[in-house]
Amino acid sequence: MTVSKLARKTVRELTPYQSARRLGGSGDIWLNANESPFANEYNIKCDRLNRYSTCQPDELIQAYADYAGIKKEQVLTSRGADEGIELLIRAFCEPNQDSILYCPPTYGMYAISAETFDVSAKTVPLTADWQLDLATIRDNLNGVKLIFVCSPNNPTGNLLNRQDIEALLDMTADDALVVVDEAYIDFCPEASTVDLLDRYTNLVILRTLSKAFALAGLRCGFTLANPEVIELLLKVIAPYPVPVPVTDIAVQALSPAGLAKTKFQVLDLNANRAYLQAGLSMLEGVTVFDGYGNYLLVKFPDADALFAALWDHGIILRRSPIENCIRISIGNRDECEKTLAFIREQLTQN
Ligand SMILES: *Cc1c(COP(=O)(O)O)cnc(C)c1O
Repeated sequence: MTVSKLARKTVRELTPYQSARRLGGSGDIWLNANESPFANEYNIKCDRLNRYSTCQPDELIQAYADYAGIKKEQVLTSRGADEGIELLIRAFCEPNQDSILYCPPTYGMYAISAETFDVSAKTVPLTADWQLDLATIRDNLNGVKLIFVCSPNNPTGNLLNRQDIEALLDMTADDALVVVDEAYIDFCPEASTVDLLDRYTNLVILRTLSKAFALAGLRCGFTLANPEVIELLLKVIAPYPVPVPVTDIAVQALSPAGLAKTKFQVLDLNANRAYLQAGLSMLEGVTVFDGYGNYLLVKFPDADALFAALWDHGIILRRSPIENCIRISIGNRDECEKTLAFIREQLTQN
């Protein structure tokens, strides 16, 4: 007997998320997972490891609430923003009945998390300029409990219009939650919708320490919402979701010194992004889309060939499903220079 046949049909048929780690590769320059190039130092204490952690450590929740400018009753912490997506689906969507809605091209985990829980997904593609198609969303709201939108959007890099997000919140006020994924908002904090939390009870915001805070390996994310939503999510979260060392490190990252360091690193990465954008834009046949996170989406004449040449040369980028597009994470200046130089060489010799 093969144990696979014991698995749920959904799981047997599931294609898991193609994470950068799963896709492999070998080389010196890794610009494929929107990770930070900075590895910062932290103090680790071991004196509390014999005890279970508290479900929602107060010092962590308070530190993030202060950073976000909201009340701690509006904050939930979890194992990355990815767990926030999962908790929302588990708390709000009835399997085989309710739906989520999302707007491709965008982050892949909304669809995969929904599928895992037998929740169907409706898709309303972004418009040609990668904004929300509000009219089509309105026509597809039947049975939809959660609408996932992402700003800055991964992989396109653009921001969603704030008026559109507000219109979507109004449109769905009594029927669905609008989840704004702000995984990259720390690179452009002025674009956050966090100030709308007090006005819209159906707004949920996802945040993470994985990107600007350079802590992808820590697995620490936040869901910001009105206290009623937070209470519901707390019903379905695991009893000890946040490991003690995660809290210790995250609190250091959110301290005044930690926040100052992140701000400095964000400025550095935003400057590298401008450098890469300017350099790539000078190349014939190349289109660089304006990006607001720590990555750029770039269109090349032949993305497959270029991606393969870079891969063989040890420069690992991310092939986007968008035609002839490659997503390039912003690394340190040296990585950006080497990547730009290699691409320039490839495009001018062919
Ligand atoms: C990276 C990313 C996440 C996941 O963040 P984690 O906190 O590492 O789970 C969520 N949404 C988007 C758009 C991302 O790019």
